[in-house]
Amino acid sequence: MDVTFFGTRGSCPCSGSDYSEFGGSTSCVLIEDGDDHPLILDAGTGLRTLGAWMRPELLASGRVLQATILLTHLHYDHLLGLPFFTPLLDPGAKLDLYGPTQDAGSLEEVIQAAVSPPFFPIQMREFHGDVTLHSLDEEEFGVGTMSVMSRWVPHVGPTLGYRIEAGGVVVAYLPDHQAPLDRDLITDGVMELCRDADLVIHDSQYDDDEFVGRSDWGHSTVAYAVHVAAAAGARALKLFHHDPSHDDDRLFELEAFAASLPSAHHLESVTSAREGQTILLTR
Ligand SMILES: [Zn+2]
Ligand SMILES: [Zn+2]
Repeated sequence: MDVTFFGTRGSCPCSGSDYSEFGGSTSCVLIEDGDDHPLILDAGTGLRTLGAWMRPELLASGRVLQATILLTHLHYDHLLGLPFFTPLLDPGAKLDLYGPTQDAGSLEEVIQAAVSPPFFPIQMREFHGDVTLHSLDEEEFGVGTMSVMSRWVPHVGPTLGYRIEAGGVVVAYLPDHQAPLDRDLITDGVMELCRDADLVIHDSQYDDDEFVGRSDWGHSTVAYAVHVAAAAGARALKLFHHDPSHDDDRLFELEAFAASLPSAHHLESVTSAREGQTILLTR
């Protein structure tokens, strides 16, 4: 299984030389298992780059997109890349889009409202490709050769985390996760997602001091991310959803801090996700 980070940033995209190491595009991760159709985690602004990378090869080989996107939730930083995903402009393109059941209407109604005037120049149905929406609760289902588990994760608004298994390798994806006030308790759903995973990709938005003033903003600390991965018996952790106020220098510091924590010693590796990085996971 190959895991490639196209967007690692949380909340809001950022650009400039201060972000060149870890990247400024928001949440988007590509999961590939052999020649199977790609599975994409979240549609943040990194999805634009992913589309620009995929489309020339598709067109050159006379093929069109066939892919699946799993949305954790509908905050802008996880959705904004969707209307800029250029493979959807090709007639015959097929995208299965999964996301959490909404309180404010069907998933289809809510996403179509977000991708329509006055927020975007055209309606989603005007793309030439077909988008099929799937509303999710806590479920298990297959996508090609991969098995997917969804579980509710504490955040702000309906939010799912995902556990993806293929070829005996497991990735858990929890980009937005509200740490509890004690930064110790772990919900059953989060444990189910992360248990014995080969790689946990986890919200690490704040340091401990920042969390004190933002303890109900829906996010985790670097230390809580390490705690969750270690308690779940995971092999490796990628710190993810970097705060836009954390430039490369700060993220290097946080990465070193995370690796120095006692619970990090239960893991084979604790590092920060970098935009453009691919990890090959094998058993
Ligand atoms: Zn987010
Ligand atoms: Zn969010």
